[in-house]
Amino acid sequence: MEKQLERVSVALGGNPNCGKTTLFNELTGARQHVGNYPGVTVEKKEGYTRRNGTEVHIVDLPGTYSLTAYSQDEVVARNFITESNVRTVINIVDSSNLERNLYLTVQLLELGVPVCVALNMIDAAEKRGITIDADKLSQLMGIPVIPTIARTGHGKNELMDEAIKLSRTTEKRTEFEISYGDDLDSALSEMVTIIEENNFLSNQYPARWLGIKYLENDELIISKGDAVNPTVSNKLKKIVKNTSTHLQKTLNTYPEALISDYRYGYIASILKQGVIKRQGDINKLELSDKIDKVLTNRFFGPLIMAAIVYGLYQFVFTYSETPVGWVEGFFGLLNEAASNNMSEGMLKSLVISGIIDGVGGVLGFVPLIMFMFFGISILEDSGYLARVAFMLDKVFAVFGLHGNSVMAFIVSGGIAGGCAVPGVMASRTLKSKKEKLATLLTVPFMNCGAKMPVMALLVGAFFAKDEATMMLIITVIAWSGALIVAKILRMTVISGPPTPFVMELPPYRLPTIKGLLIHTWERTWQYIKKAGTIILGISIILWAMMTFPGLTENEVAFFENQRETIQKAASAELLGEIEAAAEDEEAEFSEAAAAIKEQLETVDMLEAEKALRNSIAGSIGTAMEPISQAAGFDWRTNIALVGGFAAKEVVVSTLGTAYSLGEVDPEETGSLSETLQKDPAWNPMVALSLILFTIFYAPCFVTVVAIGREAGSWKWAAFSMIFNTVLAFTVATLVYQIGSAMGF
Ligand code: GDP
Ligand code: MG
Repeated sequence: MEKQLERVSVALGGNPNCGKTTLFNELTGARQHVGNYPGVTVEKKEGYTRRNGTEVHIVDLPGTYSLTAYSQDEVVARNFITESNVRTVINIVDSSNLERNLYLTVQLLELGVPVCVALNMIDAAEKRGITIDADKLSQLMGIPVIPTIARTGHGKNELMDEAIKLSRTTEKRTEFEISYGDDLDSALSEMVTIIEENNFLSNQYPARWLGIKYLENDELIISKGDAVNPTVSNKLKKIVKNTSTHLQKTLNTYPEALISDYRYGYIASILKQGVIKRQGDINKLELSDKIDKVLTNRFFGPLIMAAIVYGLYQFVFTYSETPVGWVEGFFGLLNEAASNNMSEGMLKSLVISGIIDGVGGVLGFVPLIMFMFFGISILEDSGYLARVAFMLDKVFAVFGLHGNSVMAFIVSGGIAGGCAVPGVMASRTLKSKKEKLATLLTVPFMNCGAKMPVMALLVGAFFAKDEATMMLIITVIAWSGALIVAKILRMTVISGPPTPFVMELPPYRLPTIKGLLIHTWERTWQYIKKAGTIILGISIILWAMMTFPGLTENEVAFFENQRETIQKAASAELLGEIEAAAEDEEAEFSEAAAAIKEQLETVDMLEAEKALRNSIAGSIGTAMEPISQAAGFDWRTNIALVGGFAAKEVVVSTLGTAYSLGEVDPEETGSLSETLQKDPAWNPMVALSLILFTIFYAPCFVTVVAIGREAGSWKWAAFSMIFNTVLAFTVATLVYQIGSAMGF
């Protein structure tokens, strides 16, 4: 009686001439059968082999470089993989030509099939002076890799063992995803949502893969999509169209080219991590590799990086100063026009203090933000930003983060001017849940675009001499804080092992002026739009909170009384002089008149301050003052910081409103920065303390929501609010107390 054999099926795939047929023959010997694939005249070879009581059914796929729909062979191979019940693919690669061969591997992985790599012709590779670290390759790509020599049968048993093991595993593979850069990634995630919501072809193909095929303009898949659900298919096509137009405009390229660039970039970065060792032929390096030899050099790389970032800050602060002055001047004029032409009352206060001084404070920084975005666009479009991530990966690993976290940090404002919300979403590329959490919880420490005006205001007012240096220090503090917190979290609440990292290194490109301008404008416009909508809204709410309930009748009467007393004591002549001066700025003004005027203004100021203190926001700020004083924050700053939880720009707009409400003579108004400089409650130590607090305290509301969603639990959202605020307060207090004690 014959023992029942267990059966598994695998497919053999690979580029032409990688040794597929040789391996197939070596494995199956005489147990072969040649036929045609159903419906097409492409030869289909099948055979059997046995290994430790398992019968392995092997199908030899046509040799292809790719899985697009360009040739019949490619279509046949692809359809076989997606339509037959063979779920495992042995991918044979030519070791002496790894870069090109792995291109197919990446596509197989994206298709979501379990893949086992046969690293073939290692003999030939060795003869050419190429050694390959199979374990490293396996670890980086997360799939089994077995060195083989098909001609001698070397490695075929191990290969069969791995293939059998792979086809038996029922557990779902973690999805393989490579990043295709900002533009395509966001298009893809939009498409994936639509595909998943509609169950669009998704029991047959992975959702992201379908998205990629639409972007690649794959006619077969698109016509299939049109047939099953034209509405969804059209939605996807529309996204593709928008993305294509955008890419054409900004990078002068199209999705397909970009996709292939990033796939090769992914492979290049794997091979760069010590997978391949070559003897000789270093001269044959491509230009990008030559540039990388310098820019990502172990020693010079970080130095160049620091110099570039410093240079960027220098450029931004130096050249934006004049246009920032123009915008501030413009809002000064608006303020004056409103105060001269509107009649006294609530509406005037709302327009001047709530809107012009609140939103104006934020909009004043538009030129600075614009310059910053321009510089960052250069770094990004040229491909340098990807190298920054590449270099920082090793540092990140030490702190329990992952190479993929680097991009999330940079997107969040790692250099300056990003946003933590897309940063939080970028953490999706992290496969380990714990590394993802560590990333989610630390990206909000970066200098997002909303914190920029806060930093710029304080640095400009109190550290005007070394703005670029100060910005660099702030950046270093933010990164160090994030890394240390990550390390602490990874050693305590979210401890666990690290996972390997591979990152896409696209080739260097010369950015086009048009592309840079479009990218700069897109981001700047986002900032302006936010200031004109959300910030305006919050600004008005905060103005109301800072205005109501206002003074009681008795209090108003008290101040009115004081004014009358001063006026009665003064001669009619002097009063006439003051009145004349209010109308004509050049009018003669005696010393005695000036003294009276000052007395009257002091009363006005006391009244305004009393009203602000009495207000809802004022009471909150005052209630917090006993604690916040430890870090040097008075009640006005407290109001701003509470407002900043809604959106960080609000810290600036609220300070603008708070100081504007307490202001008496609009004609003497300087910018907010000048007002702070003159105010006795402020000094560089307070500014530094506030900078530190702003870096570390609770993320803005939208980010908190995003964290909760990505972490899959509101517990972590709450954690980030409480933990960050406590941390920020501790750091700010320590620095303020020590600094003040040392007499700074
Ligand atoms: P296919 O096009 O993928 O089916 O490739 P073939 O099996 O026809 O092999 C192409 C050539 O590579 C043949 O000359 C093989 O003898 C040779 N070859 C296949 N495997 C190896 C190997 O492991 N080492 C060496 N040195 N040559 C090999
Ligand atoms: Mg062949």
